[in-house]
Amino acid sequence: MSPAPEFNLASRTLDDVAVAGKRVLLRADLNVPVRDGKVMDATRLERLLPTIQELSDKGARVIVLSHFDRPKGQVVPGMSLKPIAESLGRILGKPVGFAANCIGPEAENAVAALNDGDVLVLENTRFHAGEEKNDPEFAAQLAKLGDIFVNDAFSTAHRAHASTEGIARHLPSFAGRLMQAELHALEAALGNPQRPVAAIVAGSKVSTKLDLLNNLVTKVDILVIGGAMANTFLAAQGLSVGKSLQEPGLQGTALEILKTAAAKGCEILLPQDVVVAETFSANVPTKVVNVEDIPDDAMALDVGPATVEAFVKRLPEIKTIIWNGPLGAFETKPFDASTNTLAKAIAEATKEGKVISVGGGGDTVSALKLAGVHHDMTYLSSAGGAFLEWMEGKVLPGVEALSKAFSNLG
Ligand code: ADP
Ligand code: MG
Repeated sequence: MSPAPEFNLASRTLDDVAVAGKRVLLRADLNVPVRDGKVMDATRLERLLPTIQELSDKGARVIVLSHFDRPKGQVVPGMSLKPIAESLGRILGKPVGFAANCIGPEAENAVAALNDGDVLVLENTRFHAGEEKNDPEFAAQLAKLGDIFVNDAFSTAHRAHASTEGIARHLPSFAGRLMQAELHALEAALGNPQRPVAAIVAGSKVSTKLDLLNNLVTKVDILVIGGAMANTFLAAQGLSVGKSLQEPGLQGTALEILKTAAAKGCEILLPQDVVVAETFSANVPTKVVNVEDIPDDAMALDVGPATVEAFVKRLPEIKTIIWNGPLGAFETKPFDASTNTLAKAIAEATKEGKVISVGGGGDTVSALKLAGVHHDMTYLSSAGGAFLEWMEGKVLPGVEALSKAFSNLG
């Protein structure tokens, strides 16, 4: 299988551009959780440090662009990037400037005052309606502020916005280190993986993962289906799933997916056993039952130990694993058990160098953190929606813009 061209980034990263003395517009994702003006989780900021530090150390004038929250084209004071710029400065260990607008005289003056190595954050790009509309005029105004565009925000690359796509039409454009790492990990997992490659797809609903399932059955050798979405597949095969979460309207779709998989030579692993309870709350009495024996008054809230063991036994033959979706209702104990067991087995195999493991998705990242293995996976994507769209086989405009810019602007 040939890799998608947009992931061929080997020649256009920070290795391929001299940035000293240049004004570098860096699209970052500063959209971190904030409460009462305080950053609650700085993971996203920490992941940006390699790019910012490298640019600054090399003498670039670093101008950071980002959206924050959803101000919908209006100035919303509570959605200012100012407190986040301050937080970034603390983490970076050097002063970070702030301009109260991302275009116009305020931004221009702040940029003009920069010295080599300085870092400046511009105000929320989404305070302007032109951002989400990808207005060419707004993109041109942003581009005017810099000599080079570096995109380090894979997590917003699925949106064709002015600061992710439009701007790349104006400036020589490069992938930042985080973007580079993300694309390389994704390429290794699904673009051009070592085979056999297995995907684990779970979570709550088939309906939110339809495109993903349809794409994966054509690309992977083994597809493990877990979580509540497995209930829909079980029901489609004529099994009774009791009070379990399922989507009766999607049983036909589920059967179609199984048919495509069979035609493409993709082996599907559905649960053999499940953990059931009569009510859904923490530490209720549970039972492990075979999927044929789900009681009418019970719901399947996790896949069972035999299911996990069956997959773990296959691990030695698998070279690449891609994971989206917790196997059970992991937020509520003990329905995190199978996710934890599988996560630990995959982490172990990864540490031993036996498998490449890539995970992503909002809840998946939380679940793998709770399992304590988030540092032991080959790569854990912090990009929720962009990761899913990439797994669906979609072209991400922000990534495509970089590769187009490669050919247009040399
Ligand atoms: P991600 O955010 O990683 O893409 P999803 O949002 O698709 O993952 O799925 C995660 C959700 O699925 C979690 O809230 C989890 O509780 C739920 N879930 C998984 N298995 C079950 C189940 N058997 N019954 C009910 N909910 C489940
Ligand atoms: Mg989710």
